[in-house]
This record gives sequence, structure tokens and C-alpha cells, in this order.
Amino acid sequence: MNNNVIECKICNEKMMEFESNNPQPLLEDFGDRVCRDCNDYVTAVRILFRNIPYEDHKHISNIILNVMKMANSLKRSRLDAHYMYKELIEDE
Ligand SMILES: [Zn+2]
Repeated sequence: MNNNVIECKICNEKMMEFESNNPQPLLEDFGDRVCRDCNDYVTAVRILFRNIPYEDHKHISNIILNVMKMANSLKRSRLDAHYMYKELIEDE
């Protein structure tokens, strides 16, 4: 089995390469891989795009990608603050 550890191209989480997923149509590069959580969004976009003209896909993909990346950054900040707070009150 392939035991390579790689990084999700959307949320930057580390994952085993064998559990990574194809990010099309959200990301265009066929070399990119995404984690299982981000893949749920990729799958939702594939379903959504069945009813949206092809010429609009790239623009919509960019918006969704930016929302996902910004939300991941907010989530990381929130969790960091949460763990710092927990450490503070446990030290008292
Ligand atoms: Zn991810």
C-alpha cells in the first residue's frame, strides 16, 4: 500500500495519499488531491454544476474555493483560541 502523507490542496490538512480524492471541477490541476471533508464539497459542486452552464463553472468554482479557504482559516483561528483558553484555565 502507498503510505505517502500529502496535504489537502484546499484546507492543507495532512492525509494519507491513498485516502485522498480527485478535486475536479473545483480545482483544475489533475495532480492536486483533497481530503475527505473537502471532497464532500467537491461532490456537492459536481451535483450543483449539472444544472449550471459550463461557461460559468470556473467563476463559481473560484468563489466556492475562496469561501472554503477563508472558512478554514477562520476555523483554525477559532480552534487555536479555544485550545489556548483551555490551557489557560487548566493552568489555574
Ligand atoms: Zn481538505
